Amino acid sequence: MAIINKTFSSTEEVSKHLTEGEATFYHTSKTSTVVPYEILERALGAIDKDVVVGDLSVIRPEMSLDAHKNLVVRGAVTWKDAKEFCLSNGREIGTSPTEELAGVLAGLATSCTGERAFGFGTLRNQVVSCKFLDHEGKEYDLFRDKKLVELPFLNDSKELFDEYGTTYKNYSLYKNAPFPRMESETDLMIGTEGQLGVITEATLETTPAADVIYLFLMLPKWEEDDRLHLEVFEAVQNLRNKVYAVELIDENSLQVLPIEERPAVGKDLIFLEINSAYFEELYENFLSKLDMPEEDIFEIASQKCRELRMKIPRLTFEQNSRMGVTKKGTDVQVSRENFKDLLAYYRKFSELGIPYNLFGHFGDAHLHFNFMPKSEEESICQKKLEGLYEAVRTWNGSPFAEHGIGIIKQKFIHSYLEEIHFKMFKLLKSKLDPKNVLFPQGFMTMGERS
Ligand SMILES: Cc1cc2nc3c(=O)[nH]c(=O)nc-3n(C[C@H](O)[C@H](O)[C@H](O)COP(=O)(O)OP(=O)(O)OC[C@H]3O[C@@H](n4cnc5c(N)ncnc54)[C@H](O)[C@@H]3O)c2cc1C
Repeated sequence: MAIINKTFSSTEEVSKHLTEGEATFYHTSKTSTVVPYEILERALGAIDKDVVVGDLSVIRPEMSLDAHKNLVVRGAVTWKDAKEFCLSNGREIGTSPTEELAGVLAGLATSCTGERAFGFGTLRNQVVSCKFLDHEGKEYDLFRDKKLVELPFLNDSKELFDEYGTTYKNYSLYKNAPFPRMESETDLMIGTEGQLGVITEATLETTPAADVIYLFLMLPKWEEDDRLHLEVFEAVQNLRNKVYAVELIDENSLQVLPIEERPAVGKDLIFLEINSAYFEELYENFLSKLDMPEEDIFEIASQKCRELRMKIPRLTFEQNSRMGVTKKGTDVQVSRENFKDLLAYYRKFSELGIPYNLFGHFGDAHLHFNFMPKSEEESICQKKLEGLYEAVRTWNGSPFAEHGIGIIKQKFIHSYLEEIHFKMFKLLKSKLDPKNVLFPQGFMTMGERS
C-alpha cells in the first residue's frame, strides 16, 4: 500500500477525483493535532489498498456577505482571512480557534471551537448552511433549519435517530460530545471529519463588530492555590453576553516565551475578552469584588494578546520537537460542578515530576493539560491519561471537546461509544460513502474494525 499525494486547485478537480472512486484522506491546513501527519503513511496503512492524500489548501479562497450579512466561504479560506474580511465589513464571526491558519471548511469537519465559544457558543450553531461533494462528486446543500432525519434517504430510520438523540442529550451542554450531534442537516458535515463528504462551501452567521478590551488577571499558580481561579470561574458563568472569552495561561505555559515577552513571572494569567460597552459595569460588579490587588488586573493590546495566545501552543510544540519529546495532551471539558475535580486531577498529574503545562478555555471548564515527557516517561503518561478518561466518563464529561478524534484519539473514545453510535455511523457511511473512500480509517468505521 502506498500514499499518493494529490493537490487540487479547484472544487471541480475534487469532484472529478471523487468520480474515480479512490480511497482518499483530504486535508486543508494540516493543523489537526489528532491526525499524525508526520507518520500518515503508517497511520493510514492498516487498509490493504493505496490511499490518496488530497490537498485542498490551494483551492482559490472566495468570501462574500449575503443579504442577511452571513459570511459565505468557498475554497481554502483560513480563520484569519475570514476574521479580517468580516472586520473590514463591520462584522465579526463568533468562532476563533487559536490556530488562525486552519481552514474554515476544515473547521466544520472538526467542529472546531475556540476562545469565543464562551460568549458566542459553538460553530455548529453558527453554520446556517453548507455544501458538500458526495462520494460520486455531486454537490449537495445542507440547511441548519431542516431536520436531518427528514432527508429522503434517512427518513425510514427515525427510531435510530431518536435513540441516538437521547444519548446526545447527556452532552448537549458541551462544545462537542464524544460523537457528532445528528439533528440538523448541517450536522452531517460538522464533526464528521470528512468521512461523509468533502465540504465545499459554508454560510456562517456574523454579528456587528463590537469594541473589545482584553484584560489580564494575575493569579497564584493553580497547583499551589486555585481559590481565586475558582472564584473567577464561578463569577463569569452568568456574564456570557458581556464577556466573550475567559482563557487560562498557566505559569508553566508562559515559560516557553522569552522572559521579556512574559506578561507575568511566577504567576498564572487569566485573560478576559470583554465587550467594552460593559466594562464599567463589569468592573464594578465583578472585577472589583475579586479577592486580588487592583494592580494585578491590567489591560493588554489586542494584537499582543493574539500573538501570545498563538505563540504558546506553537512554541510548546517546537520546544518538544527540538527535545525529541512527544506532547501528550488533553482536550477535556467537564460540567461546572466537576471543574474543581478536574483541577484536582490535573494537580495530581503535576506532582509526577514530568514537565507539563496547562492552558485553554477556562470559562468553559475546558483545559488542555500537556505532559512533555522524555521517551522513557511516555508510557506512564499514557497510563495516567487512560485513568483521566475513565474519570471523565464517570463525571459524564466530554473527552475531546475541540480537537476531534482523528486517528490519534480513537483508542480513547471507544469506551464512550455504545452500540447505537456504531449503528448510526454504519447507516450514515452506507448511505453517504458506501465504498468507504472518504477517510476510510476515520472513527466512523471503528466499529467495523474492532
Ligand atoms: C497551535 C494550535 C492551536 C489550535 N487551537 C485550536 C482551537 O482553539 N480550536 C480548535 O477547534 N482547534 C484547534 N486546533 C486544532 C486544529 O487547528 C483544528 O482542528 C482545525 O479545525 C483543523 O483545520 P485544518 O485546516 O488544519 O484541518 P486539517 O488538519 O487539514 O484536517 C482536519 C480534518 O478535517 C478534514 N477536512 C479538512 N478539510 C476538509 C473539507 N474541506 N471537507 C471535509 N473534511 C475536511 C480532514 O480530513 C481531517 O479529518 C489547534 C491546533 C494547533 C496546532
